[in-house]
Amino acid sequence: MTPKNPKYVYFFGANKAEGKAEMKNLLGGKGANLAEMVNIGLPVPAGFTITTEVCTYYYDNNQKYPKELEKQALDSLKKVEKEMGAKFGDAKNPLLVSVRSGARASMPGMMDTILNLGLNDVTVEGMIAKTNNPRFVYDSYRRFVQMYGDVVLGLKPVDKHEIDPFELIIEKKKHDNNIEKDTDLTAEHLKELVQEFKDAILEKTGSEFPDDPMEQMWGAVGAVFGSWMNERANVYRKLNDIPSSWGTAVNVQSMVFGNMGEDSGTGVAFTRDAASGENIFYGEYLFNAQGEDVVAGVRTPLPISDLKKQSPKIYKQLDDIRHKLENHYKDMLDVEFTIQQGKLWMLQCRVGKRTGFAAIRIAVDMVRGELISKEEALMRIDPEQLNQLLRPIFDLTEKKKAIDAGKLLAKGLNAGPGAASGIVVFSAEEAEEEAAKGEKVILVRIETSPEDIKGMNAAVGILTARGGMTSHAALVARQMGKVCVAGCGTLLINYNEGTIKIAGKDGVVVNRGEYISIDGSTGEVLVGKLETKPSEVVQVLITKTMKAKDSKVFKTYNDLMTWADQIRQLRVRTNADQPDQAENAIAFGAEGIGLCRTEHMFFGEGRILAVREMILAETLEERKAALAKLLPYQRDDFRGIFLAMGEKPTTIRTLDPPLHEFLPHEENEIKEVADSLNISVEKVKAKIDSLHEFNPMLGFRGCRLGISYPEITEMQARAIFEAACEVAKKKVKVKPEIMIPLVSTVEELKLQEAIVRRVATDVFNEQGIKVNYLVGTMIELPRAALTADKIAQVAEFFSFGTNDLTQTTFGLSRDDAGKFLPLYVDREILPNDPFVSIDIEGVGQLVEIGTQRGRSVRPDLKVGICGEHGGEPASVEFCHRTGLNYVSCSPFRVPIARLAAARAVIKEGKAVAEKKVAKAIKAPVTVKKTTTKKTAPKKATNKK
Ligand code: PEP
Ligand code: MG
Repeated sequence: MTPKNPKYVYFFGANKAEGKAEMKNLLGGKGANLAEMVNIGLPVPAGFTITTEVCTYYYDNNQKYPKELEKQALDSLKKVEKEMGAKFGDAKNPLLVSVRSGARASMPGMMDTILNLGLNDVTVEGMIAKTNNPRFVYDSYRRFVQMYGDVVLGLKPVDKHEIDPFELIIEKKKHDNNIEKDTDLTAEHLKELVQEFKDAILEKTGSEFPDDPMEQMWGAVGAVFGSWMNERANVYRKLNDIPSSWGTAVNVQSMVFGNMGEDSGTGVAFTRDAASGENIFYGEYLFNAQGEDVVAGVRTPLPISDLKKQSPKIYKQLDDIRHKLENHYKDMLDVEFTIQQGKLWMLQCRVGKRTGFAAIRIAVDMVRGELISKEEALMRIDPEQLNQLLRPIFDLTEKKKAIDAGKLLAKGLNAGPGAASGIVVFSAEEAEEEAAKGEKVILVRIETSPEDIKGMNAAVGILTARGGMTSHAALVARQMGKVCVAGCGTLLINYNEGTIKIAGKDGVVVNRGEYISIDGSTGEVLVGKLETKPSEVVQVLITKTMKAKDSKVFKTYNDLMTWADQIRQLRVRTNADQPDQAENAIAFGAEGIGLCRTEHMFFGEGRILAVREMILAETLEERKAALAKLLPYQRDDFRGIFLAMGEKPTTIRTLDPPLHEFLPHEENEIKEVADSLNISVEKVKAKIDSLHEFNPMLGFRGCRLGISYPEITEMQARAIFEAACEVAKKKVKVKPEIMIPLVSTVEELKLQEAIVRRVATDVFNEQGIKVNYLVGTMIELPRAALTADKIAQVAEFFSFGTNDLTQTTFGLSRDDAGKFLPLYVDREILPNDPFVSIDIEGVGQLVEIGTQRGRSVRPDLKVGICGEHGGEPASVEFCHRTGLNYVSCSPFRVPIARLAAARAVIKEGKAVAEKKVAKAIKAPVTVKKTTTKKTAPKKATNKK
């Protein structure tokens, strides 16, 4: 419901703002932070923010504004005028403003901005009188008319092949006057350009350029709201899960100028290095320039450290602001600033985008520096970002060899760390096309723009010739976690020819489709394919080629993981079928095996023939003979796994997949089986035909195999227990857990359990030693989840097989869904691929029901999950909430699951606290006044 006097406009300036940082949803990120900067005493040009509610209203009401808006905006504009000592539209002392978008979540470069608004043929004279700098004023004027024409009046080219009509006019002016650089255009030229731009607008749109500043302002506000729904903003939102219902705010702010001469400038900076996370002031600036020159990557800016030499006073002021901001926000920020004739103004601050690499380092460093708590640090890291610490890097000797062989083409900025090798493509479309064919591609562009985001998403790496660390390419690549080398100025990229040439290296040409390799940590660009090497964490933990003490990255990783382990309640196991996989997983922190798929061992050396003999056997004797051949192999495999796992629990699943997966297809393989079974090839073929199933995933698989052929379960149980006894004799307390797959009724489980327990007793008697073991089941069919109270009377543990449970709950083949699921996700019929992130509403409900019903008869029932969801953060969080004991995932996802599990605990705590607060607010105050007075602690009077 709309309140009686809704407030749609929030003023900021004069050391007092109506908004604050917490009001991001209403004021957008930019507006909220501008207000906050004012509130903490930073120099911010005055302005006002039109709220996101207006955007929503605008789209809900046929692109009309609420009636209260105009008056509120005009009142705020008056305050701005007072604060800045200038008047909007005044002939003598005009105020100029910028009009910018500002959504809740930052969407760099996706929406529209207009600068220098308020200029016309009258105010331009006032500005000249004020600044005594006609060239600067006409330059601002022509930029304004150009921007306004492009953005508000719709003259901006729709695609890359079209040229901005205003650029053509500038080019002609330069050509006619024999001028090379824009900066050599005189005031008179620029004045002419303004008129020529206006003429072009009249010609193209049939309307005059609006001279009335008020009309200009409302036109610009409308264009910004309009840009919320433009194509690239829509794509960006989709990629970043930003709902379109959020809307954007609009900020109208007094202009300050970085292009007022050599004592003016503009820049962008990060309070820490956004690529590596190092605690250094990192930024870029340009003297005598406007903000867009830095961000657009047209002129390559100078590093902020140069400012220290060029203007130590401003540098010191900026550096103080950097510390003040970090101490206030307790995070790494990125800022935009302008120096106007020696005075510093802050134009924007926001929590800075960073690589996963940097996110982790910054969070850990901020805990060490006592800026934030461990919990806060854990909450700041998206578990998937850990991938960046586990990402490959180039092998240094390989790379050196390539460099020695003259393969180093160029060096740019190390904008996004990691190593990538791929074929060269020159456009976003090509990148998508080649990636769809399975190629690894490096997207090579002179510079990138928002239209390139889909292509950047498809590429493994991005290489640009222009632009700095804060250029579009660098920002977006980092956010996507892509390897990126930016601003590599010596690359001569020719899109038409499809070539890269190198300035100063005659004869070197890289063609479209050829391999290059880029190192996003050093900025090197090499021709040819380079193999990659594991990350430092992997080198310390897995390949053991680096010592922990030599790796800062590892230390950071390790601190973070230790904190996660202190908090999480879920245990994290791994899905592993081989000793080396088990060892890797343990190095990554796995606390057990949650799923050992025994059939994965069937393809090992010397085994497959025996497996095929077993499947094709006609009689029990033949089958037993084949199984006898398999037994020693399986025993060896299990021994290896038990030795690797030591005393950690190890869940081993009996045979599960449909048998056709093991059958021979090639003539020579068929003959091999026929010979060893001493039967004809025809007979083998006939047998293979007879095993054909129309729907094998719902067919002869899972426990149905062991029920039809109990001797298979017998052999597997024997192999497990013989191996367990052998290892137990070495004084290792092995903990085998035998798991029966695809159970739908307790009767099936009972039959299989009986076999396992009988074999266990036999083996213990034979070996003269006993080991503790459990028998449990997978819950991967809806019927099993629904009858879990019956099943738990037999099962000592449950493990949810959410791959099959998803398949059977949706009635959706896990092998074929790839054909249409992407469309479902794209059209938002499903929020996510349910095989990736658990479908909480449906499949999740079965997990809850299964867990509750199981524990209703066996309160200490151990419950885990071993489907792929066990390593996916949102699913892990769900498992925590549902009270599972553990998740099990592939070895490299173990750290991700550990972090996700810790975050789930913290989130839950926060949710409980919020609920309590909400309840307290809602609840009527029942305490008597007198009591309140007496007991109210002093602290209660603290003001915020
Ligand atoms: C499952 O179904 O979730 C599972 C872990 O088993 P598999 O993927 O081997 O069918
Ligand atoms: Mg399964």
